[in-house]
Amino acid sequence: MGGASAAFAEDFKTDPYWWERTPRPKLETVAFPKAVDVAVVGSGYTGLCAALQTARGGRETIVFDAQAAGWGCSTRNGGQVSTSVKGEYDDLVRRHGEAAARAVLKDGRNALDWLGTFIADEAVDCDFRTVGRFHAAHTPGRYRVLERNYAKLPRDLGIEAHLVPRSDQHAELGSDAYHGGVVYPDHASLDPARYHHGLLDRALASGVSVVDNCAVTAIEGTGSGFRLATARGELTARDVVLATNGYSGAVVPWLRRRVIPIGSYIIATEPLAPGLMDRLIPKDRVISDTRRLVYYYRASPDRRRMLFGGRVSFAETDPRRSAPRLRAEMVRLFPDLVGARISHSWVGFVAYTFDTLAHIGQHSGTHYAAGYCGSGVSMASYLGMRLGRNVLGLDDRPTGLERLAFQTRPLYTGNPWFLAPTVMFYRWCDRLGV
Ligand SMILES: Cc1cc2nc3c(=O)[nH]c(=O)nc-3n(C[C@H](O)[C@H](O)[C@H](O)COP(=O)(O)OP(=O)(O)OC[C@H]3O[C@@H](n4cnc5c(N)ncnc54)[C@H](O)[C@@H]3O)c2cc1C
Repeated sequence: MGGASAAFAEDFKTDPYWWERTPRPKLETVAFPKAVDVAVVGSGYTGLCAALQTARGGRETIVFDAQAAGWGCSTRNGGQVSTSVKGEYDDLVRRHGEAAARAVLKDGRNALDWLGTFIADEAVDCDFRTVGRFHAAHTPGRYRVLERNYAKLPRDLGIEAHLVPRSDQHAELGSDAYHGGVVYPDHASLDPARYHHGLLDRALASGVSVVDNCAVTAIEGTGSGFRLATARGELTARDVVLATNGYSGAVVPWLRRRVIPIGSYIIATEPLAPGLMDRLIPKDRVISDTRRLVYYYRASPDRRRMLFGGRVSFAETDPRRSAPRLRAEMVRLFPDLVGARISHSWVGFVAYTFDTLAHIGQHSGTHYAAGYCGSGVSMASYLGMRLGRNVLGLDDRPTGLERLAFQTRPLYTGNPWFLAPTVMFYRWCDRLGV
């Protein structure tokens, strides 16, 4: 073997590494009722967390997925658990005003807390660990920006953080490619497919019907509810929850006009030499960096492999083609990994939004939550739970995100033609450190 092929293990796969331990579930094919209380479209974290609430609240609930259960991002992600809110405090204040900025940051804090509590209360076995995040500055200028942002962060929002100068960086990361960073000690890691599996188990045990490999092909208001057409027949539902996020298609045109599907690419290495991970990521932190085209990585739960993600192509590509490029970037950051071959390379479609914030609300009577901008493990779960409570009519006060308008742009219909030039521009900015 030579060239790029030397980068691949013999048993290389384009399925997520997580599916080795947690294969896609085989669900019993059941005839579904002609009428339900709640129909949920999409079986990821958003859909299942909503369904769990409505079923436990006494509503007959059915979840459809066009593919296997959890086939979307919810079993493909990096398993880094954060507050999920993109944008610094200053920037949020400038765009939305101080009160809204604080409320949105509070949503992020709530999402992180809620997920940890939910996993503990439900005893979901998914390697959830509060390991903390090291967010690394890729240029000296970016470290100065981190310092400024750190100084401005309102302390009363409960967002823990501390700066790590370059001189102390090796305690966090075995790489000389960065210029210091900031640690968020409350961020966590989990095995995303195990977490999804735990959610699915609890949804089924609570009486939710989950129908896989069955796309919802039309949704129509009837005045008193909705009529849904699916690949396996029609049904009516009093309430509909849209949980399709980066896979929102023609059946949800309003949502599709508001989310920008973007491929996020990630690789897993073969098991590394014993002890190497203790040098590379000594505290088991999850890692991200300050690039606009961010690299995010972590050790696998058994600490034997590196899981390394990012965006390495202008247009969408095949995970076989993205794999050697991601590997080259990983080796640039960690020269020790020069001999590490890739065992898995995969992609999933995340949903960006025009204001880089997640959204939750109602449109034409349907309930939706979407647009986690690549950071949805906690937020999709939390907003899914909130959707379920909204369907039940529980009078929670609206969250910060619930109060924001969900924007689109003229002529945008769901095809992000502007993606390649934007990625090109971002890469240029990252190289120049601006
Ligand atoms: C490679 C990668 C790495 C990531 N890393 C992280 C990370 O480390 N931390 C983090 O917080 N977030 C991360 N994310 C993002 C996170 O995974 C998502 O934000 C989250 O899983 C979204 O969950 P969801 O339920 O809304 O959507 P999904 O899990 O994507 O589920 C949507 C589902 O809707 C189904 N669907 C679509 N249309 C229909 C239809 N018409 N009928 C029936 N079903 C339909 C799809 O088949 C799909 O299964 C990552 C994502 C990817 C792809």
